[in-house]
Amino acid sequence: MRIKIVGAGPAGLQFAALMKRHDPTHDITIYERSPRDATWGFGVVFSDRALEFLRADDPDLVAYLEPHFERWPEITIVHNDTRIPVAGNGFTSIGRLELLSLLYAYVERLGVKIEFETEMNSFEALGPADLIVAANGAFSWIRQENEQKFGTSVDWRPNRFIWYGATKPFNSLTLTFRETELGVFCAHHYRYAPDRSTFLVELEEETFRRGGFETMSPEDTIAHCERVFAKDLEGHRIISNNSHWRQFPAVWNERWSFDNVVLIGDALRTAHFSIGSGTRLAMEDSIALFQALKQTGNDVQKALPLYRDIRIKPMKAIWDAANVSLRWYERMDELIKLDPIDFAYSYMTRTGRVDHAEVKRRDPALAQAWEKLHAGEARAKG
Ligand SMILES: Cc1cc2nc3c(=O)[nH]c(=O)nc-3n(C[C@H](O)[C@H](O)[C@H](O)COP(=O)(O)OP(=O)(O)OC[C@H]3O[C@@H](n4cnc5c(N)ncnc54)[C@H](O)[C@@H]3O)c2cc1C
Repeated sequence: MRIKIVGAGPAGLQFAALMKRHDPTHDITIYERSPRDATWGFGVVFSDRALEFLRADDPDLVAYLEPHFERWPEITIVHNDTRIPVAGNGFTSIGRLELLSLLYAYVERLGVKIEFETEMNSFEALGPADLIVAANGAFSWIRQENEQKFGTSVDWRPNRFIWYGATKPFNSLTLTFRETELGVFCAHHYRYAPDRSTFLVELEEETFRRGGFETMSPEDTIAHCERVFAKDLEGHRIISNNSHWRQFPAVWNERWSFDNVVLIGDALRTAHFSIGSGTRLAMEDSIALFQALKQTGNDVQKALPLYRDIRIKPMKAIWDAANVSLRWYERMDELIKLDPIDFAYSYMTRTGRVDHAEVKRRDPALAQAWEKLHAGEARAKG
């Protein structure tokens, strides 16, 4: 097959790898607008569960990536000055550029061509192909120019976030919530390399407005965040990589393909970063598309509807959870008023996918502390 992929992110690269590994006669080209050695953001995380799913579907690739992962067994919730470690939530992380560089090498070894610094902006420029894969991220022109065909909806969420890094290697995936006179500042931070962490700062819309961040210079914005999180950074610096305030677009598409064009990864749907699953979902889309092609003997017209059938149920469950999770962060100024134990418990159970029994299984100490806190209420209720 002649396959043209727009976008060398995790989705496009993994799809290319699966197809080429299965059948080296496929002619696969990926067009990527960025240079080989540049990307946005810092590190990304995979939960242990996410990695298990990926390992089951593509053990070769996970074995190849695994030596490069940072790992930790727990997450930590910081409620102002109270630290609450929550066990039973294992994560791994890797720098986004390192992940992409490893994937570039992997697919190129298989014989996939990647044309870097090539912005592909029309079907005419792409030329003839048996299959066109839109793996060009949350702002995919292929999706935007065909919204009617795809049945696209984009829900812009009100919180603001900025994706920074930090020079401090934090010891676990940590969610730090600090109350200030402007409102709550939340940092999602974790080590992704021995000397670097992702440090993503999120604010409610009102806090963003009150702080005047819309017009604040990049230097003053970093200085402000460093002051808010001084106790957490312990003298380390926040670093920028073209970092700027953004709102999260929750993207969904009713239909995933037309003719020989198909959406995968963030182009298909975005999942809020607070559940750490965007990269995993992007890679699982690729796996499902590959399986659909394999099952139909590369019959594109049969494979594309099958891809949606295979993928919709597990993908939608995580997408729904991500949308509940992002709404929890939109209430953080109200939730921070809770007792720290209640706050951590509310965080753990926010998506509805973790109930009390599951909290107890993952972290008996947290479950016990929460039961103790609410023992009086339970007695009062009779
Ligand atoms: C702040 C933030 C934090 C995140 N944290 C995590 C996390 O911890 N864990 C996690 O799993 N996920 C995380 N994600 C999500 C994750 O980054 C995405 O879900 C994932 O990268 C999607 O992969 P993709 O291949 O679909 O798209 P992308 O990674 O966005 O790749 C798309 C590629 O297409 C290229 N491109 C776009 N247009 C064109 C064009 N016209 N021509 C050529 N090339 C083009 C882009 O340059 C890009 O390289 C985060 C996202 C954000 C915004």
